[in-house]
Amino acid sequence: MPKAIAAPLTVLLATAFVLLHGAMISFAGIHAIAASYTFLIAAPLLALAAVIWRGKIEGFGLSRGWSLLAASLVLWTAGMVISMQEDLFFANSNAAPGGSMLFYVLYGVPIFYAVATVGGDAGSRLQRVIDAVLVITLGYLYFAMMFSWVSLQGAANPMAAHVIADMFDMENAFLAFTTAIRFLSSDTVARRHFFGVLTAFTSTYALVAAYYNHHVALDVAQNIGSHYDLVADAPFLLLMALAWLGPSRLSRGLNPPLGLVRFVRSGSPLLLALAVLVIAILLLRQQFTLGVAGVIIAVLGYGLRSILSQVQQIETADVLRRDRRMFAEMALRDGLTGVPNRRAFEEALEREWRLALRSQQAISLLLADIDLFKQYNDRYGHLAGDACLREVASVLQQALKRPADMLARYGGEEFVLVLPNTPGAGAGNVAMRLCKQLSRLQLPHDDSPTRYVTISIGVACVVPTEGAQPNDLISAADRALYAAKRNGRNRVERTV
Ligand code: GH3
Ligand code: MG
Ligand code: MG
Repeated sequence: MPKAIAAPLTVLLATAFVLLHGAMISFAGIHAIAASYTFLIAAPLLALAAVIWRGKIEGFGLSRGWSLLAASLVLWTAGMVISMQEDLFFANSNAAPGGSMLFYVLYGVPIFYAVATVGGDAGSRLQRVIDAVLVITLGYLYFAMMFSWVSLQGAANPMAAHVIADMFDMENAFLAFTTAIRFLSSDTVARRHFFGVLTAFTSTYALVAAYYNHHVALDVAQNIGSHYDLVADAPFLLLMALAWLGPSRLSRGLNPPLGLVRFVRSGSPLLLALAVLVIAILLLRQQFTLGVAGVIIAVLGYGLRSILSQVQQIETADVLRRDRRMFAEMALRDGLTGVPNRRAFEEALEREWRLALRSQQAISLLLADIDLFKQYNDRYGHLAGDACLREVASVLQQALKRPADMLARYGGEEFVLVLPNTPGAGAGNVAMRLCKQLSRLQLPHDDSPTRYVTISIGVACVVPTEGAQPNDLISAADRALYAAKRNGRNRVERTV
């Protein structure tokens, strides 16, 4: 459905829902309570439907968060269903029956898990186990804390009811605050949308819950069935609309600072441990053992999780280092023949030139070019030409004796050899040896006068002087190569 229609439609639906809810409370008479409960249960269910629908589009994976939000809504709805049961069937009009209160508190746990983990690094299995243990602990501590103030019947006295309302405020404010931070620091559209929707929901919920818990439930209308109930629809209808409408311009336009993104991304998994710690400390007074256990779990969870993320960082750094070495190596190697490429040659020549200049030793350079290679390609095909190039490269490489000598592919079917510390005569001998080794292989070449693949080599040698350039040496070898070609190929020429 196009957004131009969907947006007004959701507003219309939400308005109709609230109006109908209000009308039922006004006109249902003695059934007003039951009628209002129906709407208070329907609102989160509508939101749940929209969240599930959004999850179907965006994916239900835990890393997406929609399944967690759905779980939250189920918990909240369960709380409301229990409230209704207490109210209608057990005639328990206590403002805070424990069973339902527990679900209202637990509703925050999946959201909290989402804040801590959505969009984080995939993490190891152990990391996820730690997160799960922390979440379960968090839920259990909430449970324990709740039931240290209320029984299943409800709050024993107004003081306890107030404490519970404060506990809700604390939880809700924390959720609103942390989801907002995740929203502001999200760096992908999907995450921004999820946390945008979540922030709108948690902040509206926090305001509505504070208003309802303190002002309505503890004060003006202690029972469901008054018009005050209408405010409770707001966060769920808003959530329904936002989840249904999909990413808005707001979730596309944000561009958070990179530092903040990184800080929140590495910090948010630790929030879980922090939350467990806070609740455990609050619990210490009433339930010392459980509080201590909670503190221990929080500290262990925090420590293990930090260690694991450090291990992960070290692993990543190792992989990056290995890759960088591999890429650096690749950048200096010829892909076809595996010998060093022209860049590697240029670097080596520069280096050897400087050494030769300092030590006043001769440096020789050989340019080898395959004879009649165009005809070879034409007759045997380009792939055979490539194979031939590999053969020639390997023969030349094997023919080199000194470790300091270097072979590189200069380009096309030309190879270059740098022979440090080698005078012209010695370089000429090396060149002859290279020609001979290749001839011995007798790679067939029917368009060549010899009927096999041969090379011509130009040799140049110099004792570098100040002011002379390595390029002069290359030009000299090139001239010698040209002479070798002109003089009949399959031979060595030397510049003097
Ligand atoms: P000459 O004896 O005078 O050197 O003749 P040539 O045919 O070898 O010389 P030319 O420089 O005219 O041709 C070189 C050919 O080498 C042209 C090109 O098709 C071929 N060549 C260059 N690089 C490659 C390559 O990577 N693979 C293959 N298969 N052929 C290549
Ligand atoms: Mg050639
Ligand atoms: Mg050539």
